[in-house]
Amino acid sequence: MVSDKSIYIKTFGCQMNVYDSDRMRAGLEKNGFRPEPDVRRADVILLNTCSIREKAEHKVLSLLGQLRTLKDRDPHKVIGVAGCVGQRMGRALLQTIPALDFVVGPDAIDRLPGILEEVYSKGSRVVDTQLDGGGRVYSQPVPSAAWARPAEFLTVMKGCDHFCSYCIVPFVRGREKSRPIAEIIADVKRLVAAGAKEITFLGQNINTYGKGTAETLSQLIDEADRVTELERIRYVTSHPRDLNEELMSQFGNTPKLCPALHLPFQAGSDRILKRMARFYTQAEYLAKVERLRHYCPDIALSTDVIVGFPGETEEDFKQTLHLLESVRFSGAFLFKYSSRPGTRASHFTDEVAEPVKEERLERAQEIAYGWIKKENEGKKGRKEKCLIESLDKKGSYYMGRSLSNKVVHVLNAGAACLGKIIEVEITDATVASLKGYYVGAPKVSRQMDPKISASVPPA
Ligand code: SF4
Repeated sequence: MVSDKSIYIKTFGCQMNVYDSDRMRAGLEKNGFRPEPDVRRADVILLNTCSIREKAEHKVLSLLGQLRTLKDRDPHKVIGVAGCVGQRMGRALLQTIPALDFVVGPDAIDRLPGILEEVYSKGSRVVDTQLDGGGRVYSQPVPSAAWARPAEFLTVMKGCDHFCSYCIVPFVRGREKSRPIAEIIADVKRLVAAGAKEITFLGQNINTYGKGTAETLSQLIDEADRVTELERIRYVTSHPRDLNEELMSQFGNTPKLCPALHLPFQAGSDRILKRMARFYTQAEYLAKVERLRHYCPDIALSTDVIVGFPGETEEDFKQTLHLLESVRFSGAFLFKYSSRPGTRASHFTDEVAEPVKEERLERAQEIAYGWIKKENEGKKGRKEKCLIESLDKKGSYYMGRSLSNKVVHVLNAGAACLGKIIEVEITDATVASLKGYYVGAPKVSRQMDPKISASVPPA
């Protein structure tokens, strides 16, 4: 067994990758590896990668270029790539980058200790991109830990059966497979016992959780709702076609399910939606928004949008703007289309010119961000219940999330608030976040920091 080696893991991309990195770390620690936060000092450097967009992939390749210098200085360093770029490029990546020692896909996580053993003992360069075959169910309990983050993520399924024409996910993550509810709930209880208050269930197309089995996402949510001590439930990512009436109604009758849903619409034009193989129309999408607001009038909806999909005309694009204006989303992730090799859309020849994509992105951002800012500003003076998760990036203030999933910086919260749900009076808002004051804080802590006391609202 390889022992006394240190490992640095850098994660790119979505929450599922964050979760996978946690599993890699736990599995490797169990096999004698020590975590090392400084990339320069680590014996093993592992990049857990994302290939959903061209830009994400370029970031990985550019970092690998920089890491070559470290390996030139210390040839004993072992460098590996895991995740979706590893799955997509496999052996080709190893051939292109001589400094690389191993390349693995998302289904090779449990085999990582053995792969590193092979690299160290035989000096081999290893590729493992085998995807799980077999049935609709798979097992992958979270490793037990003495502590959990206040807001934890839990993968409940993997893969996708949809094959949207632009998307690489079904190629790098395989077909849909779900974990059994009993196993997931056991994980929820373990995480809650270790300190988690909120769980977000993760799946690439989570609405079809349980496909091919007798279990459904609604059942999973009901079961989780019954877990004492768990305070908040969320799930991501939904597909508008698969969001059924039962799931929508749960936003009105499931106490712990947060009133927030990420529902990507991608494009407003029915013609483009058809080319994207999304299997819904703008009217159908808007009807679901209406049903969601019927069950839960305050539900915060967020979305993903792709502008400049091949063949998108100005008229098509105006339908996207129309949808943004009609729904007034609480959050929006807007992207220029980028072709992913191997997908159906990569063969479309009617690409939209880059300057047109740029200009459309700006117009879409102006509308989407305008509504988000307006909504956030409307929260000033209101009180929001926030789960305090951590210090912010600068280490200045504690931050958390409101029920509607807004990031809230709390200007007078102390370490004692970490992991607690506190009431915050909102005093400031931008597109990206809210700021405010912990209403129940002892008066003295409001005046401790001069930056804070300068803007404390009158009592
Ligand atoms: S449903 Fe989502 S993950 Fe599945 S192919 Fe479409 S975009 Fe990709």
